[in-house]
Amino acid sequence: MFILRTPAEMRAWSRSQRFATETIGFVPTMGALHGGHAELIRLSASENTQTVVSIFVNPAQFNVRSDFEKYPRTFEADIAIAQDAGATAIYAPTSDSMYPVGYRTYVEPGMAADPMEGEGRPGHFKGVATVVVKLVNAVQPHRAYFGRKDFQQLAVVNETVTALDMDVTIVGVPTVREPDGLALSSRNVRLSHQARAQAPVIYQALTAAREAYKQGERSRTKLESIARDVLQTAVDANVEYVTECNAVTLLSTDLASENSVMCIACWFDDVRLIDNIALS
Ligand code: AMP
Repeated sequence: MFILRTPAEMRAWSRSQRFATETIGFVPTMGALHGGHAELIRLSASENTQTVVSIFVNPAQFNVRSDFEKYPRTFEADIAIAQDAGATAIYAPTSDSMYPVGYRTYVEPGMAADPMEGEGRPGHFKGVATVVVKLVNAVQPHRAYFGRKDFQQLAVVNETVTALDMDVTIVGVPTVREPDGLALSSRNVRLSHQARAQAPVIYQALTAAREAYKQGERSRTKLESIARDVLQTAVDANVEYVTECNAVTLLSTDLASENSVMCIACWFDDVRLIDNIALS
């Protein structure tokens, strides 16, 4: 397993791989790897001869400092999971090599960044777009893999690579869930026993909305309130948003369509969880 620590080291490795006609798949992560990340890595390993996993807790995308500090860091275990799933290199850049003192160059994301997470976490997607461009520039992959669990992030990344004419194919990977429906997330370990027991309500709310859509309900407000009613059955759930939107534009219209996605952000104590589902 190669471990690369700076953009220059990473680029040198990638250049030699490309020279040897290898194909490079890239899975960007913030570490604390779980089965969802492993799925992205496995897919990359099946579609490319080399797979790079980046592990970098990106300070630029945390709008709350304590959230950045509390983010789990499990480097040794991450390497084992990545290797097991088929990664051939780890890119774990030092903070200094990513954001040297005085750093102030950022990517302004497009309209996909505006609603939902963009409203609740100001500056978050600017940090995401910036780090994705920097990581892709260093890794020089043919394909990069992102989870649909972070549906809006995937839309922002697609919009960014298109806008900046980047030479990389973005692949969206379906959400990996626990048997009770809770989407795997690095934040789940911070849920209390009681919150963990209630958290599957998010997926239940999403599937209730999808069921109603399948039964013919098209009103956005009705679909959103069906999901909200389910969430409210969990006493500790503190709902931030329940939003139906178009999968491509991320705009909400009065009527849901076959391109609609239902998105939820919900707090349990100080843990913020997000999830989404395609309605059709
Ligand atoms: P993170 O380390 O949380 O920034 O996530 C790194 C990548 O893994 C992102 O593309 C996420 O969307 C993806 N990911 C996280 N959780 C899941 C999951 N449960 N299923 C599929 N992909 C996931």
